[in-house]
Amino acid sequence: MSTQNPIFIPGPTNIPDVIRKAVDMPTIDHRSALFGDILNPALEAVQRVLKTTQAEIFVFPSTGTGGWETAVTNVLSPGDTVLATLHGRFSQRWIEMCQRHGLDVRIVPQAWGEGIPVDRIEEILAADQQYQIKAVLATHNETATGVRSDIAGLRRAVDAAGHPAFLFVDGVSSVGCMDFRMDEWGVDVAVTGSQKGFMLPPGLAIVGLSRRALAATETARLPRSFFDLRAMREAYRGNGYPYTPPVGLLNGLRVAGDMLLAEGLDNVFARHFRIAEGVRNAVAAWGLSLCAARPELYSDTVSAIRMPNGFDANLVVSHALNAYGVSFGTGLGEVAGKVFRIGHLGSLTEVMTLSGIATAEMVLVDLGLPVRLGSGVAAAQDHYRRGIGAGQRRAA
Ligand SMILES: *Cc1c(COP(=O)(O)O)cnc(C)c1O
Repeated sequence: MSTQNPIFIPGPTNIPDVIRKAVDMPTIDHRSALFGDILNPALEAVQRVLKTTQAEIFVFPSTGTGGWETAVTNVLSPGDTVLATLHGRFSQRWIEMCQRHGLDVRIVPQAWGEGIPVDRIEEILAADQQYQIKAVLATHNETATGVRSDIAGLRRAVDAAGHPAFLFVDGVSSVGCMDFRMDEWGVDVAVTGSQKGFMLPPGLAIVGLSRRALAATETARLPRSFFDLRAMREAYRGNGYPYTPPVGLLNGLRVAGDMLLAEGLDNVFARHFRIAEGVRNAVAAWGLSLCAARPELYSDTVSAIRMPNGFDANLVVSHALNAYGVSFGTGLGEVAGKVFRIGHLGSLTEVMTLSGIATAEMVLVDLGLPVRLGSGVAAAQDHYRRGIGAGQRRAA
């Protein structure tokens, strides 16, 4: 199988060469001063990407799932109540993790394709006069459905209800791609991983904690060991880890952070939006629709595309791989077999995206759908030409 083609799964993403080279390093003594020169700039870069000056950043050898566990076990206690919207496979998995930890999860069910219902959350919090709900869990970007929720609106809802619950936000498939404002949105725990917006291989859980959440780690009573932030925080004071750190990945994180900040976060977000709009225009040209219910919910990192009733969407993914050596994402959970996903995040340009759109289009035609070759590509081209500006070409 060729590994030359770009990948269009919604994480892990394509990896820029500079980052691959940064990850590939000789062994250094992780207890020497050299390590601090890797760790500290990496943590500072993450802080800037999360748009926080007050939160502390922690990076574990793990994945986004470990980030969820870090959030839950360090801040909460057995039997605590948390409030969470279930609207896709990722929000569902976070809920299941909370349940396995013995938390009482008040689930707000939403149709898959909808976002977090902030008004409903406000009502529930306002009715919780005893402050039983200790945390509100939010999946900023539901990767299974391609839905972005309004975290600023959620913060306003929590405040309007006058409720002291912590706000935990899963930004695994949004941070580093779509705007994320940890301080402004009053996010208490932000969770992400290495293999999405940071364009790294998988292997890191990246977590930011507000001062208030950090204070709660001192009294939280859920069992924690590997993900104990107190041990990590203590070790960071000596520029080290409580165990052996993944030095190459952390070096990659340092470089990835530099790359994002050098491009400029606003430019990174604008690039993701422009690329996503091209994909959405192509989907419309094919006569298909997105799983996301309305434009304000559209994700700029992944598009989940509904296939006609009775058509097995998994065929799109398997045929693309078998015939063209290109990977798209399958549908997960409730939308398995109903949608296929085009991941358009991380290290990606308009030109790379056109190859993915062209491939999806060939696949749809091969599978007998009423799609005209070139229709989606042309719709995206039209958009990308306009986005870049007549006569202007970007340097990189
Ligand atoms: C990818 C993803 C995760 C899980 O991350 P892993 O690194 O696979 O553990 C969690 N939440 C969202 C929204 C994701 O996209």
